[in-house]
Amino acid sequence: MKGVVFLGDRECCVKDFPEPTPGLGEVLVRMKATGICGSDLHVYRNDKEAIKRRGDRIPGHEPSGVVEQVGEGVNSVKAGDRVSVYHYRGCGHCKYCASGNMMWCVQARGYGGPIDGSHADFVIADERNCVLLPDEVSFIDGAFIACPGGTAYSAMSKLGVSSHDTVAIFGLGPVGLSGVIVAKAMGGKVIGVDIVDERVNLAQKLGADAAVNAQKEDAIAAIRRMSDGEGADLAFEASGSSEGRANAVACLKRGGKVVFCGAGSNEKVINPGELIGKQLTLMGSFVLSLGLAWDLVNFTAQHNLPFEDAVTHRFAIEDAPEAYRLADEGRTGKVVFVWD
Ligand SMILES: [Zn+2]
Ligand SMILES: [Zn+2]
Repeated sequence: MKGVVFLGDRECCVKDFPEPTPGLGEVLVRMKATGICGSDLHVYRNDKEAIKRRGDRIPGHEPSGVVEQVGEGVNSVKAGDRVSVYHYRGCGHCKYCASGNMMWCVQARGYGGPIDGSHADFVIADERNCVLLPDEVSFIDGAFIACPGGTAYSAMSKLGVSSHDTVAIFGLGPVGLSGVIVAKAMGGKVIGVDIVDERVNLAQKLGADAAVNAQKEDAIAAIRRMSDGEGADLAFEASGSSEGRANAVACLKRGGKVVFCGAGSNEKVINPGELIGKQLTLMGSFVLSLGLAWDLVNFTAQHNLPFEDAVTHRFAIEDAPEAYRLADEGRTGKVVFVWD
């Protein structure tokens, strides 16, 4: 099978790998769609020394495809099933695995990190990680459910978005754009903020009530105008920048809530006086639980979520160097690998 390998300093290539065989309780999944994520790009940008230590590990953690073959002891999944693969494998027994939060398991192995990922023709999955997709949920939807859509859905669920709420979204890359889609489907009034025009325009196309370029316009003033002068009820931070985080707090009305998802800056930006005086709720969020992935499959089907419209570029796996080069520029919507 073909698989992507990083070479360091923003270079990658496609290599031939032996096709893996599913062991006890494991499933072999033939990829149909998988995205390039910001976290893949962090590794892609590492220098050659760091990449030498990583070896020929295949990146990618948004696997979506068709079950090709099942190993011994697999009962609930069969060849031909359409699946989105939950992207942390755990021990399957501890309290975190039992609650579907395999990312906290002491044996957690994320695709593209300690184990080979989905930028390849096949991945090996645990049976329990295979989330079944009905026909109306596409393989690209499945890739969104595995990471950017799932991250946005988990965060918006923590915020409890409803039709009473104005939701400000900072950072309109694939996670922020997924936030626009999910918050609109939950009934919120959505305003998106970014510093790249292409992404501001995409947010508008995906249904945001307003979207502003914070380098050209005062984002806080625009959010206040849209929320009776008081500020947003809720904010979702997906930029990972100090400015985005500071603004996500500053844009809130009294009693507002913010959830931080974007990784990036390590600068401390929270003003305790503002936090106490406005009685704000600050939360962090990281990926999603396995149970929420099943919920999001239903939510995607029920609301006909337009995740596919957040995709701006599709590539064959053989064209990975070009796909990565483009995604690295940070001006696109979602870049995905697809198979016929
Ligand atoms: Zn991802
Ligand atoms: Zn565990």
